[in-house]
Amino acid sequence: HDLRHTLTGRLAVESDMRHALDRGEFEMYYQPQVDIQSQRIRGMEALIRWNHPNRGLVTPNDFIPIAEECGLIAPISEWVLNAACKQAQTWRAAKLAPISLGVNLSARQIEHPHFVEKFIQSLKDNGVDGQGIEIELTESTLMRDMEGAIEKLRRLADQGVEISIDDFGTGYSSLAYLKKLPVHTLKIDRSFIQDLVTPSNGGTIVAGIIAMAKGLHLNVVAEGVETRTQLEYLESIGCDAYQGYLYSRPVAVGDATVLLKPH
Ligand code: C2E
Ligand code: MG
Ligand code: MG
Repeated sequence: HDLRHTLTGRLAVESDMRHALDRGEFEMYYQPQVDIQSQRIRGMEALIRWNHPNRGLVTPNDFIPIAEECGLIAPISEWVLNAACKQAQTWRAAKLAPISLGVNLSARQIEHPHFVEKFIQSLKDNGVDGQGIEIELTESTLMRDMEGAIEKLRRLADQGVEISIDDFGTGYSSLAYLKKLPVHTLKIDRSFIQDLVTPSNGGTIVAGIIAMAKGLHLNVVAEGVETRTQLEYLESIGCDAYQGYLYSRPVAVGDATVLLKPH
């Protein structure tokens, strides 16, 4: 019964997703990334949402994996990249303090043979240069084809695009890639931050990641910071920036713009 239920569920999602792009049901939400020292917003991460006519607001974990399996990830990714570039351009034109805009990429997307060309085209179409765009990739994505990823990401880095490793610490990977890839930022996975109550309680791993990042001249962002205690501990061990409900949940573009305005 369960299997049938999930299978029908999946098929329904798949068929609805085929129309969602034409009907304009996807929307980007934005979550600020805050510099710990200055308390200023240094970036926004673009996170996709699906305004489903019956299901309400659907979060990406419920449809991105299905989109990857049924091939819809290509047009959705293209839409995401365009939406993000357009927004970056709008914020830049509004003369707000400069920020970087983070975009999540799926493994399928970077494996596409024309991924780099399409990416550069999206930047051009929207009149943005690579500087100010940050792509977020997980270690597992990189591990699928390291050599291919190195070559593609170098070409994007040449355009000024920055590269962040998302959910850092959760993938099976060899740290050697940190030397081979043009990586700028490590985003420490929320699971390590959740455990941050006392240093012995998860703090050791976070402090270790930060020390390693400093040694390699990489930025570090803590993901999923929900409490003041977590933030204070992160500050005490020299973490650069954080993201999480403590500062703001991901919000629609109007609210994100308000957050960016000087107040
Ligand atoms: P991610 O890139 O690691 O994004 C962080 C997720 O953590 C987001 O979930 C965000 O809403 C959530 N989060 C942020 N702060 C907190 C916190 O303080 N507490 C808790 N409990 N959660 C927090 P979201 O938006 O549901 O996205 C889930 C994942 O879906 C993302 O993980 C990313 O891997 C993927 N994703 C999101 N947007 C896109 C997209 O446009 N394209 C692709 N390919 N993947 C996307
Ligand atoms: Mg991310
Ligand atoms: Mg993450």
